[in-house]
Amino acid sequence: MIDLVDVSFTYDNQTPALDNINLHVDKGEFAFIVGSSGAGKSSIIKLLLREKVATSGTVTVNGYNLNEIKAKKIPEFRRTLGVVFQDFRLIPTLNVFDNVAFSLRVTDASNRYIRSRVPYILNLMGLADKAKRFPHEISGGEQQRVALARALVNDPPLIIADEPTGNVDPELSYEIVDLLKGINECGTTILMVTHEHDIVRHFGGRTISIEHGKVVFDEFIGGRNEGK
Ligand code: ADP
Repeated sequence: MIDLVDVSFTYDNQTPALDNINLHVDKGEFAFIVGSSGAGKSSIIKLLLREKVATSGTVTVNGYNLNEIKAKKIPEFRRTLGVVFQDFRLIPTLNVFDNVAFSLRVTDASNRYIRSRVPYILNLMGLADKAKRFPHEISGGEQQRVALARALVNDPPLIIADEPTGNVDPELSYEIVDLLKGINECGTTILMVTHEHDIVRHFGGRTISIEHGKVVFDEFIGGRNEGK
């Protein structure tokens, strides 16, 4: 699903960001990536989304070798991913329904399918009564749930969530991770970047810690809510 082999990455201005990263995430896993500011978390995400290319080593995601992928294949590759960002990135001029439908429209899905699929996913995310609202008319936690719905609507095998709780109230952060955990239990692989140690301690699970561009820890930790 995700395979980084001996990956190093240096920005154009010669700032080294990643130093010989080896990371393998299997289908069906839920993994946290943690690390302090400047550790290299965003750089890993940029490589996984093919916004940047590794300086050395190989990056494979969903069967695509991202070192060798041709430019014209990149949109096809990106459609195999659901991505959730810290700042939601909803389209302000579209209502909740159309923000989610947008992901389907770019794949040429039929209107009939969109009319059944979008309400189904909004319902799953607890947003059934918000379909006609615009992003500025709902809370931060709700906006992030819309972003999750948009990431999910194409049923991608892998969801990458980059600090998804960074802009929502602390009590709602747990709700967002609960939703991600539920999605994972249905078979979707999830990689979630966070700097919130409380969340990781609460949920537990595979935790990959990055420091100074290296993986310094990659193990399962027990969560406080285990057995709940
Ligand atoms: P994190 O996401 O964990 O905060 P980053 O991946 O953003 O860390 O940063 C890793 C290193 O790369 C840091 O030293 C940072 O200053 C540097 N860096 C990040 N973005 C850029 C950029 N666009 N150009 C140059 N250096 C960068």
